[in-house]
Amino acid sequence: MSGISQDCAVVLENISAFLDGELSATDCAAIEAHCASCERCAPVVEGLRRTVGLCRSARAVTLPDAVRQRARDSIRRLLDEREH
Ligand SMILES: [Zn+2]
Repeated sequence: MSGISQDCAVVLENISAFLDGELSATDCAAIEAHCASCERCAPVVEGLRRTVGLCRSARAVTLPDAVRQRARDSIRRLLDEREH
């Protein structure tokens, strides 16, 4: 089994930007496009869509710290699986 690809890492970093309230509509579109063909990222993004409204409101998201932290942790875990 292999780790995540560089494409995945970019998507995960975009999600991280979303958590900081810095995600553009273009970035959201890139995330959506990637998840259409990536089994690894799709469930992560789907989960975040439900919990933090990922890409539903690209700007001015205000997330509880606990929610934001949990999302960050799951992103970090995935990034750690990146191939070296
Ligand atoms: Zn991916």
